[in-house]
Amino acid sequence: MGPGPINAHPRVLRAMSADLLGQFDPEMTGYMNQVMALYRPIFGTRNQWTMLVDGTARAGIEAALVSMVAPGDVVLVVNFGRFGLLLTEILTRIGAVIETVDAPWGEVVPLDRVAEAIARCHPKIVATIHGDTSTTMAQPLDGFGELCRQAGALSYVDATATIGGMELAADRWGVDVVTGGLQKCLGGPSGSAPITISDKAAEHIGRRRHVEQGIRRDDIADGQGPRIRSNYFDLAMVMDYWSDKRLNHHTEATSMLYAARECARIALGEGLEARYARHAAAGRAMAAGLRAMGLTVFGDDAYRMTNVTGVFIPKGVDGEAVRKAMREQFEIEIGTAFGPLQGRIWRIGAMGYNAMKHKVLLTLAALEACLRMEGFALPLGDAVPAALEAWCQDEQA
Ligand SMILES: *Cc1c(COP(=O)(O)O)cnc(C)c1O
Repeated sequence: MGPGPINAHPRVLRAMSADLLGQFDPEMTGYMNQVMALYRPIFGTRNQWTMLVDGTARAGIEAALVSMVAPGDVVLVVNFGRFGLLLTEILTRIGAVIETVDAPWGEVVPLDRVAEAIARCHPKIVATIHGDTSTTMAQPLDGFGELCRQAGALSYVDATATIGGMELAADRWGVDVVTGGLQKCLGGPSGSAPITISDKAAEHIGRRRHVEQGIRRDDIADGQGPRIRSNYFDLAMVMDYWSDKRLNHHTEATSMLYAARECARIALGEGLEARYARHAAAGRAMAAGLRAMGLTVFGDDAYRMTNVTGVFIPKGVDGEAVRKAMREQFEIEIGTAFGPLQGRIWRIGAMGYNAMKHKVLLTLAALEACLRMEGFALPLGDAVPAALEAWCQDEQA
């Protein structure tokens, strides 16, 4: 019950045990086309270019940024946690000119501040995180893409922690490139990064492609801008591979493609609305249970992610001893925190296959017992009924 990786859905593990296919086998290319169709509704898009980058979520982030951004481009990063910092780290390696608009950990950046920052620095690209698991905050994105488009900028969103758990609406948000991963709310293993690319971004990336394959001496080509400085993460080449041309690039990660396909089939089979409602119920129940124990939930309720809940470690309690007891006595893992929140909060997830009523209730009961074992006086037996009631709130409404 951490903020990811989480338990994989058994159907995903079974799908991964199927035999391997050659990457140009018509059965395999058929699965690739299915994956493109399955991920469009999950991203909330009609983008043709909706596919997988082979690698963990970070591979999707890096592929997007290295393919979109040339050295010297001004990039505005919306930074409200550790993953915003990761974007700036990757952009530094690319040689971008980085501007940031920041919020303290535990808050989000209001859209008018994003607009001000765009007006100040005239970025070519604006990059943000949707749900930053390090702070448990979800940046509101309605209207975000429109702001960027009006200023002539392309936009990028890292939705790794929210894909399959909170609504993604790439088209309604008007954003250009969105990437994810399987190991959070999609209930799969890490190792595949779903991505969607708008036509406009695909054209931009296409203009940055290598004229010939292989390394050009002159990396700055004939007035068309610098070429994409990665082979593996060259999205122009990856798109060629996923197109009808099927131009060879890397060997598609067959078992991971099976996993990504099954994750999406499970999500769409449940229904996206029902799935988002289940994550919301789990988050609501977790927060209610923690509060009934007398603990303080971290962050502004209006912007908290539904699928991971931060909670302050009570004064005088050894946070690591409680985590150890949870693991050893109950086989339940909860998360620590990073940076300014390290040692101050735990992060408790309820993602994908773990966003289930009984798992939330067991986690709360276990935490109650472990806090008691660590000498923290709390009302016993209040958390589970409070969580149960909160879970059912929506069902009754
Ligand atoms: C978990 C997470 C990642 C993880 O990337 P990996 O390469 O799969 O470890 C990236 N971004 C966000 C917002 C996350 O929550």
